[in-house]
Amino acid sequence: MTTPYEDSNIFAKILRREIPCVKVYEDDVAIAFMDVMPQADGHVLVVPKAPSRNFLDADPATLAALAPRVQKIARAVKDGLGADGITIMQFNEPASGQTVFHLHVHILPRWEGVELRRHSGDMVKADALVPLRDRIVAALEAA
Ligand code: 5GP
Repeated sequence: MTTPYEDSNIFAKILRREIPCVKVYEDDVAIAFMDVMPQADGHVLVVPKAPSRNFLDADPATLAALAPRVQKIARAVKDGLGADGITIMQFNEPASGQTVFHLHVHILPRWEGVELRRHSGDMVKADALVPLRDRIVAALEAA
């Protein structure tokens, strides 16, 4: 049995513009923004606007619409930041590491020999995220 979606979560608040984010991309389906506790420099979260707790209760139509957005942003992260590769992660329920209960996909740029930092680790200031965001947005615009 699935736990119901609750709209008090932090990403629902970002979607309602109740709290700020360093935004990378937005359209009618999804918003993407910089993770404030980045596991890698340039860690981006892609969040569908349609509410679901995670992958398990999401409408398949939401997942279908989300996938091309994740691909588009992952390519821009790789190109914009000159990454060697991209890790895509997604967690479902606390036992798996999920901490925010609105479906989201992690996009993590990777460089040879550089380990990921821990999940939900140190928070960084928005100012530090803006230059990375700008390089990703430039790559989106150039695509
Ligand atoms: P989860 O553990 O649910 O898969 O991932 C939640 C992610 O959201 C974590 O990587 C965490 O760093 C990030 N996060 C938590 N609170 C905020 C916030 O207020 N703003 C942003 N941009 N990211 C957040």
